[in-house]
This record gives sequence, structure tokens and C-alpha cells, in this order.
Amino acid sequence: MTVYLVGAGPGGVDTLTMRGFRLLERAEVVVHDRLVAQDVLALIPSGAERIDVGKHKGMAASQGLINALLVSLAKRHDCVVRLKGGDPFVFGRGGEELIVLREAGVPVEIVPGVTSAIAAPAVAGIPVTHRGIACGAVIVTGHAGLDPEIDFAELCRRGMTLVILMGVEQRETIARHLISGGLAAHTPLAVIERACTPGQHVVRAKLEGLASLDVTSPAVIVIGAVAALGGATLGALADNQFV
Ligand code: SAH
Repeated sequence: MTVYLVGAGPGGVDTLTMRGFRLLERAEVVVHDRLVAQDVLALIPSGAERIDVGKHKGMAASQGLINALLVSLAKRHDCVVRLKGGDPFVFGRGGEELIVLREAGVPVEIVPGVTSAIAAPAVAGIPVTHRGIACGAVIVTGHAGLDPEIDFAELCRRGMTLVILMGVEQRETIARHLISGGLAAHTPLAVIERACTPGQHVVRAKLEGLASLDVTSPAVIVIGAVAALGGATLGALADNQFV
């Protein structure tokens, strides 16, 4: 009957909302992605069907198949939970699933989740907006580098924090793009790996050091003056605290 598009948060059960928790407890079938934590998956009732459509490298359940699967499951079950890491609408393709389900006449409820785009910086002590330092934030995918049509260097120079998801592999290209666009090489940045999990790790650097950082996905890259906050010397914007 109803498909619930649920955000699982970036970490384990501690970052799941109560609404998500309650829906998982009564789910008949759960269709989930790769980034959903094991302790969240453990909440799925033993009698419920569990379908992993996680996109592993080279082996992806196509979005078309996932959409069709959700429509057909909705015909057979009262409570279908579509579980995604973070928030379902932040690079989660939740919007596409919503459109297909609505077109098929399937009732949908959206259960927002804590997004890594904001939570990962937050747990590192980095506010993505900060009065007098950052007037806003731009959340962008870095999986193919940064879009050359958009002047991200200028946005950042004018006080926007850049929050880059899926950017680890292209970090060298991203740094080159921003520096050649006029963003200062000493602009502070932070990379937060596996935020809100026991493996959480925060690396602070300057833009010029991004390419050579030893970091792995999943990670959020935060670029801008706020990335200097929350370090050992909370509040200091001095250059000397960076590697
Ligand atoms: N819908 C998700 C994002 C999906 S895109 C959300 O709202 O968080 C996948 C990207 O999200 C990863 O490549 C990484 O950049 C980021 N990400 C997801 N979980 C993360 C975590 N626990 N720590 C750091 N980055 C994370």
C-alpha cells in the first residue's frame, strides 16, 4: 500500500529519527542502499523481507529496476520501507522514486533523515553557516569533479561554504578547479570520513593540500572559512593550525 521513503541518517541507530525507527519495526519489506549502517538494518523484523539494492562498484541495480520493484512491492504489502543513507532527497535519488510512485498511484510518505552534508561537518565542530563567516552553504556532488559552468571559487570567496559529497576520488581535480578559479590556496578545509560511526575521522588541511590527503570514501569535504572552526583551538581562524 504505502511506500515510506526513509532517511537512515549518516551513522547508526543514533542518527535515525524516531519516525524511521517506528516504521522499520513494522516494515513488511525493506529495500535499502549500501550506506545504511548494520545496526539500523538489525532493526528490521526477522519476518520481513530485506532487499539490498546497494550500488557496489560495477554492480548497480539500475534506478529503473528499483523504481519498478517499489511499485510492485506496494501492490503486495501495506508497509514498504525504502531506506537510504542520510536524507532520502540529498543525492539519494529519492525525488525520482517519489515521482514514479506518485505516477503509479502509490501513496508515499517522506521521512527526512539527518544528512551527512550537515551532520558530518557538525560532528567535527564545523557549522556550515556562521554569522559573519559563512552566509550560506552549497551542497554539491564531486563525483565527476565540479561543474565548470558554475563559479564555485567565487561563491566560496563571497562567503558560501562548499560542502562536497562523493568528492574524495576527484579531490585533485576539485582543488585544481577551485585554485585556478581564484580561490586562495590557503583556504581552510576539512574532510570528515565515516561521520557519526565508530570509524569517524576528521582531517584538516588547506585547499592546496587537498590533492595529497590520505582519505577514503564515504567522506564529506568542507571548504571555506568555517572549516577552520572546531579544531583544537576552537574559534581560531589562524593559519598555523593546519597541516
Ligand atoms: N543521502 C545521503 C548522501 C548520499 S551520497 C545523505 O544525505 O547523507 C553518498 C555520499 O554521502 C558519500 O560519498 C559521502 O560523501 C556522503 N556520506 C554519506 N554518509 C557519510 C558518512 N557517514 N560520513 C561521511 N560522508 C558520508
